[in-house]
Amino acid sequence: MADRLIEGIVFDLKKFAVHDGPGIRTTVFFKGCPLNCTWCHNPESKRRDVETLITTKRRKCLDLSYSETKEVLGKKVNVNELMEEIKKDIPYYDESGGGVTFSGGEPMMQVDFLYELLHACKMEELHTTVDTSGYCSYESFEKINDLVDLYLFDLKLIDEEKHRMYTGVTNKNILNNLTKLTEDENEVYVRIPIVPNLTDTEKNINDSIEFLKKLNRIKKVDILPFHKMGSNKFQKLDIPDFHKHTETPPEEQMNELKNRFESAGFSVKIGG
Ligand code: SF4
Repeated sequence: MADRLIEGIVFDLKKFAVHDGPGIRTTVFFKGCPLNCTWCHNPESKRRDVETLITTKRRKCLDLSYSETKEVLGKKVNVNELMEEIKKDIPYYDESGGGVTFSGGEPMMQVDFLYELLHACKMEELHTTVDTSGYCSYESFEKINDLVDLYLFDLKLIDEEKHRMYTGVTNKNILNNLTKLTEDENEVYVRIPIVPNLTDTEKNINDSIEFLKKLNRIKKVDILPFHKMGSNKFQKLDIPDFHKHTETPPEEQMNELKNRFESAGFSVKIGG
């Protein structure tokens, strides 16, 4: 029986999203992620708790008193509450061929909550997309596969040691899950973050192409250029910014990478 009162923790809800799947969408960002990618631009998504961030700053340059601001990161919500928001934009989804995307953080970390949300979306006949790092047991995917129209699946580093080094976890189950999802005939678009000197190396690009070519159902690949949009958050959260001096890959490099994936038979988009 559907449990519309089950609660989950989300940290954002974006309306009129156009980069998280087809058409106009509402994207729900789940809080909590088992990975710790050095380039993550949503560091506030990593802990699966509601957090209160307190920042203090001097009121004026020569003033010794301080002001304090509190910011709450994340919110507990139930399925009914989220569906009320999601349903408000049904006319836009219908008009544009859009729907709802569950992203994060890692939505598979709250799979029971995700299952109920997907079920509620399907009761409204909405198109559903799950944006995932793929780091979970395949049983979690089996639980939701019938309710998901499209997966956006991140592929970061093929070399296991490097994957461990830069994301904190093995990629074995990620690669296995991607393979199984395609064998089970799910619709999957692969997303590759292009991080200079890390994921854009000759070896990683070649290995990624070779790996994807073996998965017959993968037709679409998005290559996502590294950007610095999250860098001010690192300071605020007191987390070291590993990529402080990393630049966004130039347009020519992105076009070149696009050509390489296209030559291997994929339909490629730069950006989400
Ligand atoms: S998987 Fe995504 S949300 Fe999780 S740490 Fe990596 S970039 Fe951030």
